[in-house]
Amino acid sequence: MPSDHERFMAIAIEEAKAGAAAGEQPFGAVVVRGGEIICRTRSLKVSTSDTTAHSETLAIKCATQKLRQRTLPPDCVFYCTCEPCPMCCGAILNGGIKTLVMGARNRHIKKLGKLAFNFKDYNVERFAEMVGWDLTVIEDVLEDECIALYRNADVELHLTNRGGGISEAVLLNHVAEGDKRVVLNSPQQVPIGAIIDQPAAPALPEFTPSRDADGSVKFERPASDGITIRKKFFFPKSDEKKDNFVAELDVDLVNGGAKPYANAGYFISLGSAAPIHAKDYSYFTRIVWCIDGKAKGIDVGWFGGGSGFLGMGQHVAQPYYQQDLGNMEWAAVSNQFFTTLIAPLTAKANVVWGHRFDIKPEEKMYGLEGAMRMPAFQLPP
Ligand SMILES: [Zn+2]
Repeated sequence: MPSDHERFMAIAIEEAKAGAAAGEQPFGAVVVRGGEIICRTRSLKVSTSDTTAHSETLAIKCATQKLRQRTLPPDCVFYCTCEPCPMCCGAILNGGIKTLVMGARNRHIKKLGKLAFNFKDYNVERFAEMVGWDLTVIEDVLEDECIALYRNADVELHLTNRGGGISEAVLLNHVAEGDKRVVLNSPQQVPIGAIIDQPAAPALPEFTPSRDADGSVKFERPASDGITIRKKFFFPKSDEKKDNFVAELDVDLVNGGAKPYANAGYFISLGSAAPIHAKDYSYFTRIVWCIDGKAKGIDVGWFGGGSGFLGMGQHVAQPYYQQDLGNMEWAAVSNQFFTTLIAPLTAKANVVWGHRFDIKPEEKMYGLEGAMRMPAFQLPP
């Protein structure tokens, strides 16, 4: 039998998870009196664009309004998935809460280096002591589950049957401007991992998706002359607490026709990269590739025309970058903070391609999309 504390904490966790599923930060709170829930809340910072809409401030507000009392009765117990921040601690104090039950500590999620502010040595006990407030703190309630809230959901991949690739990668623990999640690639650009003949004019045929029990996603499409294209994305589990996320892609062409099939080579889309903040330095929006163990690259500035220096290095604006290379080990698009990198495992790529697109050209804000070409191959019937 779970204790009462565990039972109510589980409800706070439910709130946090429901919030995370709706794009909020995963925090939940519950106010209980005499074994009855007065209210349960989740963070609403993202959807309300209200930086004070933490689950804990909302819980105090909701509880006082429900009971029609400016100060809650002293037998109310406050549950929260994570140690309240100083603002919420102030709200809890103003609400008259005497018993606080917590799951994770601020120091736990600070170690994960993601959502937490750096509150230095702040903790609720010190805060209570400083303001002379008599607070009973009960910690470690469903602590592991609460910490997991701030760790599990690292990335959410949106797959699309258009070209059979990843249209968006949402980094759930990274916040961009306006409290929005960082999103790599965009549905307006070519999906990551799409196979294309001409990257400058990509045709993105519809694939039929299906999901396997192991969590992998298959895409299949019949092409001409009895050829079937099969793509399978795997998402290997990793216990690494780093911000590296790996997806594996198997591409399989099956020749069900009577004749040999020759493929002249095809491009794989790297997706796109764009600045995360308006003030990011455009130099960091780049296409990078690796040849003979050395990384090379160009940034968005390459595509613009320039007068060079004293007439040297003069060049006109270029819509595309394309370079034939020998054995390319990997290619990537990156912004100042994140990189989408594709490393072919069974063959080396031989062409790198890139294109600049406008975001806010009047502010010199541009994005880049990229692709790499895989070598020609043949399939017997
Ligand atoms: Zn807070």
